[in-house]
Amino acid sequence: MIDLRSDTLTLPSSEMLDTILKAQLGDDGRTDVNGRGEDPTVNELEDLAAEMTGKESAVLFSSGTLANTTALLTYCRPGDRVLIEETIHVYKTEKVVFDPRFGQLTPIFYSLNDHGTPDLCTLEMLLKTNKIKLICIENTHNAAGGVCIPLDEMASIKALADRYKVPVHMDGARLFNAAIALDVDARDICKYVDSVMFCISKGLGAPIGSLLCGNEGFIRDARSTRKLLGGAMRQAGVFAAPGIYALKNNVKRLKDDHENAKYVWEHLQDLKKTKVQKNVQSNMVMLYTQDTGLTADEYCRRIKEMGLLVRPSMANQVRLVFYNGITRDDAIKVVEIIRAFDLLL
Ligand SMILES: *Cc1c(COP(=O)(O)O)cnc(C)c1O
Repeated sequence: MIDLRSDTLTLPSSEMLDTILKAQLGDDGRTDVNGRGEDPTVNELEDLAAEMTGKESAVLFSSGTLANTTALLTYCRPGDRVLIEETIHVYKTEKVVFDPRFGQLTPIFYSLNDHGTPDLCTLEMLLKTNKIKLICIENTHNAAGGVCIPLDEMASIKALADRYKVPVHMDGARLFNAAIALDVDARDICKYVDSVMFCISKGLGAPIGSLLCGNEGFIRDARSTRKLLGGAMRQAGVFAAPGIYALKNNVKRLKDDHENAKYVWEHLQDLKKTKVQKNVQSNMVMLYTQDTGLTADEYCRRIKEMGLLVRPSMANQVRLVFYNGITRDDAIKVVEIIRAFDLLL
């Protein structure tokens, strides 16, 4: 069975796991005036994350959801309006900051243009007509198929946000996929946002963890929010150590995942029923099931019988995700399975 459900399936290598036993540990919850803890390995990872994103400071979380939630609850108070897009993870999957029982923020939806990046005209119109507290973007955009926001568009979004004095938070769960795909440094992307969250637990292959990066004052406040949410930790160096390993060793190889995704995409252009995403840029490929007569759910169930495990990402959209452990041979087999399946439809 070839499993393309998610890059969260990436397993830590034994070299990565070795770093755990060697890590210096301390109580990360025992903090100084800036809220910094006593686990030297956590501090090292936070410093590395800040450096790699070009931000002043960073704070470690057990999940991306908690990091995004902390960011939004640090910027906003109940009732505040957040410019967001309906299919981004923070809204579609995490939900908690907009839940009337919890964050009580008000979403105001902007749309994506046809290449899957934020539509500047609607952004501007909504900023003009609403009192907006925060703009949220996602890069790479998961539901749009791992699409990256080009740097000139990032610059335009930031210039617009600055004109209305609204900060920008970027869900960069796959920030380094975006950097590799655009062939730029992650810093070049992050300079256009006030804060960024990225995951070490996806394609970078660490078992646990996400970082929130931003300026010093914001991260100090975020540490307080994290504590309120129960997100403060103790000897978190046990997962910060693999995180450091991931950032030092696993960024460049994301290119292999992108190349496997491209290979599969290029070999699925002429299918009979299954339609394929137009602009594959990173480690994902979306299949559209509208013309197959199957829902995405049914499509996944049927193709599993042929040896391919995939997941629906929307009602008529199936997501293939490439990660460390999926080889070129696997990619070749994936093409064969999807082509054979499409012929049966
Ligand atoms: C995975 C992911 C997150 C965070 O997920 P956790 O599972 O909570 O670590 C946030 N945004 C996007 C786009 C993601 O893919």
